[in-house]
Amino acid sequence: MLIVMKTTATEREVAAVIRVATDIGLRPHALPGALRTAIGLTGNQGAIDANNFENLPGVAEVIRVTKPYKLISLDLKSEKTIVRSGDAAIGDGSLTIIAGPCAVESREQTFAIAETVKRSGAKFFRGGAFKPRTSPYAFQGLGEEALQILAEVREQFGLRIVTEALDDAGVDLVERYGDVIQIGARNMQNFTLLRRAGRSHLPVLLKRGLSATLDEWLLAAEYIMAEGNYNVILCERGIRTFAQHTRNTLDLAAIPAVRAVSHLPVIVDPSHGTGKSAMVGPLARAGVAVGADGLLIEVHNQPERALSDGAQSLGLEDYSQLIVELRAIHDVISPVETAVV
Ligand code: PEP
Ligand code: MN
Repeated sequence: MLIVMKTTATEREVAAVIRVATDIGLRPHALPGALRTAIGLTGNQGAIDANNFENLPGVAEVIRVTKPYKLISLDLKSEKTIVRSGDAAIGDGSLTIIAGPCAVESREQTFAIAETVKRSGAKFFRGGAFKPRTSPYAFQGLGEEALQILAEVREQFGLRIVTEALDDAGVDLVERYGDVIQIGARNMQNFTLLRRAGRSHLPVLLKRGLSATLDEWLLAAEYIMAEGNYNVILCERGIRTFAQHTRNTLDLAAIPAVRAVSHLPVIVDPSHGTGKSAMVGPLARAGVAVGADGLLIEVHNQPERALSDGAQSLGLEDYSQLIVELRAIHDVISPVETAVV
């Protein structure tokens, strides 16, 4: 159920609605918008009696939610969510670049890449410390040592750190060293992990599962939000299809499809979405054109020697050139407000 407050509702009236909901055993989620506050109610097994709320002061409307999701929905919040991390933001109308190697391999490698990522104007550096590899014999990541290197990158370059957690203990570590928790495609329906991330104070970057429908992906985001963490970034990274010319099929239609139902920011990962470095540029450009809030791009100082995902990693020069092109496309499709008309 959704309680829409009047535009004139006071903080005290919002607090009263929250109290009534809590008293009858529900979990209220108040998401203030520019014009009004809406309060999503979760935690109910059956239908909630609207009479509990309809006549409370400041309540404009009580809406029964018939869709499977509540908190991710535009019904709850019609303005786009802006996820902030330090001075960086995703969903604020800028083009957010999140870039770095698939895996942190050494301090030297990480710093060489971070320097280029910083110079490109990106605000986020992404590197894997714990890698969910298909084979147990493939490089699994350096673990906590990698997180320490990432923390040094943040210190030295002022970049915000995005890194993946595979389990609850991984979330604890990302909270200690990083800024944004990545939940990978293979863990999109790891509900224990989603709940743990939902109790974190850090934003969560939620990748779409390899065979997830839009509803399954949004419900995974709903798991995180239902625990009280509203800072979720969706990431389209390609899905499994019969196509053999790419590693995954990058579903760019997912961007407008998400926009039609959700206020959450959504970004595109053309690296895992294609698996081939030569295709990363074209699909990254398309991702910007289709209206993504940002891009996640794998870049390596020596792609041919990378310990994971080298085939889809851009070299430093190709990466830098691509970012210039992406910003130019972004300026055309969403001109800065100061532009002279
Ligand atoms: C990654 O980002 O390096 C990764 C493993 O991605 P995904 O979960 O999308 O496969
Ligand atoms: Mn990777």
